[in-house]
Amino acid sequence: MAKKFYITSAIPYVNAAPHIGHALEFVQADVIARYHHRLLGEDVLLLSGGDENALKNVQAAKNAGTPVQEFIDQNTELFRQLAIKLGIGEKGQGFDVFQKGSDQKHHYPSSQKLWQLCLHDIYKKSYEGLYCVGCEAFYTPDELDENGECFEHPGKKLEKVSEENYFFRLSNYQKQIIELITTNKLHIIPEKRKHEVLAFLERGLQDISISRSNERAKDWGVPVPGDPTQRMYVWFDALNIYQSGVGFGWDEKKYNKWWPADVHVIGKGITRFHAIYWPAFLLSAGLKLPKTLFVHEYFTVNGQKMSKTLGNVIDPIELIQKYGTDPLRYYFLAKFSPFNDGDFSEEKFKEFYNADLANGIGNLVARIAKLIEIYKPTCGTNEIKEFSPGVKVFLETFEFNEALKIIWENIKGRDKYLELKKPWEKSGLHQQVRWNELIDGVRQIAYDLQPFLPQTSEKILAQFKGPTITSQPPLFPRIL
Ligand SMILES: [Zn+2]
Repeated sequence: MAKKFYITSAIPYVNAAPHIGHALEFVQADVIARYHHRLLGEDVLLLSGGDENALKNVQAAKNAGTPVQEFIDQNTELFRQLAIKLGIGEKGQGFDVFQKGSDQKHHYPSSQKLWQLCLHDIYKKSYEGLYCVGCEAFYTPDELDENGECFEHPGKKLEKVSEENYFFRLSNYQKQIIELITTNKLHIIPEKRKHEVLAFLERGLQDISISRSNERAKDWGVPVPGDPTQRMYVWFDALNIYQSGVGFGWDEKKYNKWWPADVHVIGKGITRFHAIYWPAFLLSAGLKLPKTLFVHEYFTVNGQKMSKTLGNVIDPIELIQKYGTDPLRYYFLAKFSPFNDGDFSEEKFKEFYNADLANGIGNLVARIAKLIEIYKPTCGTNEIKEFSPGVKVFLETFEFNEALKIIWENIKGRDKYLELKKPWEKSGLHQQVRWNELIDGVRQIAYDLQPFLPQTSEKILAQFKGPTITSQPPLFPRIL
């Protein structure tokens, strides 16, 4: 039986339509899933979902004048559609599981089960604190910037909240989690994020509130078992989407097959929830822990932080309609390191499209197909079965940009070879062309592209299958 591989993207808030940051993360998760499925032959499950119980969803629905359920259903659907348009999933069908937080059939009982298992660490207490609705989290004054605002949401005043809530004994798990992270049993990639989490843990952990009153929750969210006056704190149930989506609390056989997650792909802003809260809940419940957290950085847009206020939020679906799926995937994966903030610019995107796709791979493939039509060499039907060595190494370390650099070096290498032999000239040098190597080179490039640009890879592999190779319409028509 094939080894299982369970990978998740983070569970996006659905208070607004998706932006390019979500698209980036979906694509990153998809590359890893495809790699594990195709090269390693593993049984892969790729999950995302809708974080639908957050207070900010309720507020956004109110602002839109739409009933909460209707509002989140609409937005969640946009995320599901985005995944399909990005070619996520082995057949481009989107995520294998897209688990909604408002799903009362599976997600509610699943989260209530997790709560019950944590009961020995849960107690009730009165509380007063500063709450960031953006993060759905309480902060102590020393965790805020000089304006008393959270680092993720500058310009947003924190709410002073005082109420009686259920608390979780997070403080019980400090030592255990430090040990797990230090020994990489819970592997945090990259190292800088791992050190950041460890530094936070060393300062000591406060217990956290894991419920809120019906009044503040506006009767929205998963009810606390045994207390009809309280709803679960959104992070408690949102993290559990990783489990509820694969059967926890409703299909034990399925759950036992997939859990624990092999990789959670997350943005740096939610590292603490995934590296501390989530393992603590699972430890308390006596459940297995995820193996790896892959923490990526953010996009700015034309040098500025993306924000609705600045009006610079870019709709990824528009970009796909304009330029196509694989070009956007290429820009995300090749031109940004997952481990550094990157600046998104449509102008740059167009430049790279023309240089690397239209003139690069598109031109190479067209040129070679054309020459084959002219000289009719024996093409054979050689099938590539392995990634180029460097590509595999960088897929393992999530350095997709480095993997693509190697592929594009190979493209340039073939270009240079053609420039040297100039088979289109009548000098007779075409007799020296090593056609087999050239054709296999293209096949290798197409094979290596599989996890990154799946549609392009498939087209080239079909075109170069042999024994007869013919010209096809351009892969990437130039854009102006
Ligand atoms: Zn915040």
